[in-house]
Amino acid sequence: MIIKTTFFPAKIKKSTKPNKALIGVGCNLGNCIRRFKKVYKFLNFHPKIDIVQTSIIYKNPPFGYLNQPDFYNTIFVIRTTFSVYELLYFLLYTEKKFGRQRSFKNAPRTLDLDIIMFNNLKINSKKLTIPHPHFRERDSVILPLHLLGKR
Ligand code: AMP
Repeated sequence: MIIKTTFFPAKIKKSTKPNKALIGVGCNLGNCIRRFKKVYKFLNFHPKIDIVQTSIIYKNPPFGYLNQPDFYNTIFVIRTTFSVYELLYFLLYTEKKFGRQRSFKNAPRTLDLDIIMFNNLKINSKKLTIPHPHFRERDSVILPLHLLGKR
């Protein structure tokens, strides 16, 4: 199911910041739409981040552990002066701030932030895999991505 609301989708804005990244955003606990709006404002407020575009919100059934609420997914296109590792740490901090609790793999989560792409970088380190390894297989990323240009 496709959800359109304030900030989702958001129009393309200009930014002179050098690095471009796609961030996958997920949630399936509590009021996800309200949380997405708060995360949008929080990230965009940071002087090193400009959100230049957002996709629709895509509501979809869980995978992996099936006995849990539906997932909400969206995508932020950002410009940033952060390096890719600085961005990762800032996103991990943001997940914590918005109350993510890690229990088990594919468990319900209040906020999940993944770097899907960062410029044309390819990284395979202990901390980071870029482009994100599963994004091509997941509707939760592909569909919002596909709809980015079509509003
Ligand atoms: P998860 O529990 O799925 O949110 O995984 C979080 C961990 O995945 C982080 O601590 C990162 O070190 C690692 N990771 C690897 N690749 C990425 C990526 N492209 N974006 C975000 N986290 C990543």
